[in-house]
Amino acid sequence: MIEDKNQNKTPLSELGEFGLIDHLTKGFKIKHASTIKGIGDDAAVLDFKNEQIVVTTDMLVEGVHFDLSYMPLKHLGYKAMVVNLSDVYAMNAQASQITVSIAVSNRFPLEALEALYSGIETAANMYDVDVVGGDTTTSTAGLIISITAIGYVNSKEVIYRDGAKPDDLLVVTGDLGAAYMGLQVLEREKEVFKVNPQNQPDLESYTYIIERQLKPEARKDIVKLLKDLDVKPTSMIDISDGLSSEIMHLCKHSNVGCDLYENKIPLDPQVISTCEEFNIDSTTVALNGGEDYELLFTVSQEDFTKIKANPNFSIIGFMKEKSAGMHLITRAETSIPLKAQGWNSFNS
Ligand code: ADP
Ligand code: MG
Repeated sequence: MIEDKNQNKTPLSELGEFGLIDHLTKGFKIKHASTIKGIGDDAAVLDFKNEQIVVTTDMLVEGVHFDLSYMPLKHLGYKAMVVNLSDVYAMNAQASQITVSIAVSNRFPLEALEALYSGIETAANMYDVDVVGGDTTTSTAGLIISITAIGYVNSKEVIYRDGAKPDDLLVVTGDLGAAYMGLQVLEREKEVFKVNPQNQPDLESYTYIIERQLKPEARKDIVKLLKDLDVKPTSMIDISDGLSSEIMHLCKHSNVGCDLYENKIPLDPQVISTCEEFNIDSTTVALNGGEDYELLFTVSQEDFTKIKANPNFSIIGFMKEKSAGMHLITRAETSIPLKAQGWNSFNS
């Protein structure tokens, strides 16, 4: 949070647009045989033989999706990648290429974009994807980053949101609510810093939740694990807006209802303790917090034995007939209708 104002910074105008693109992308190596032509021509050329192609885009806008006062640019680059890759994995697909488009104001020196691109490169290596293009332009104010991810999947293996059936089990990976609580801690520290810039925050007891906010991971491993376990979910979605709204997407697309059990929702101990400290209900956080980038899926009852003991999975409910509606069964065993209060970019 403390900015060193004495560092030597290089204005972007010194490089020009093409110099900048070359500089930022020179370290990128092509790893996939499907990348015939990457950066450097008018368009990239890809060859996927007989696979089906998945394409997904996300845009992140400064002041709306991220705050650079506590989000290091390297982490922002990494997170922008993860947000997109997560959508590819939610189709049960492999990610293979990405394009990166940025709009930057002259407030950003070269060193800032180098940091952003080092996060992009780290994620590209971590998730084994080729950076094959993008666009670079100026903005009058903040930073905008838009990433498109491209992946492939065999037509028999693609998983949509619309395949869930009554009696299917509802399963989620990992744990929920941590990224949201990490954000609450960072927002609080930002306010403290405004009042007292000398204050050195002690964030030790929040390391997991802050990491989940600043450096989330996409569940590439789950796509492989499902294959290894020979489990094909009937429907799948990634959790970006919050468990509640994602469950409602699966139900609406699949024309089913569901019961979600509050006592089955996976929570990290740091989420529980931080919720107590902030006096927020942990179930509300898990349902509506978002940015978890876990996978939510349904499987038929036959697959129960294949997933029941796996620590990556929590069975949190089951699907019902549409007429039964969508409900949260609380710890007190009352049934209340699910509401989607997930993060929505059109709400203030
Ligand atoms: P054009 O004028 O044809 O749009 P550009 O000069 O914008 O081409 O881009 C030249 C090459 O650099 C293209 O391959 C493009 O995809 C790539 N590129 C441009 N900006 C970026 C960026 N921010 N990140 C990665 N690749 C980029
Ligand atoms: Mg261009």
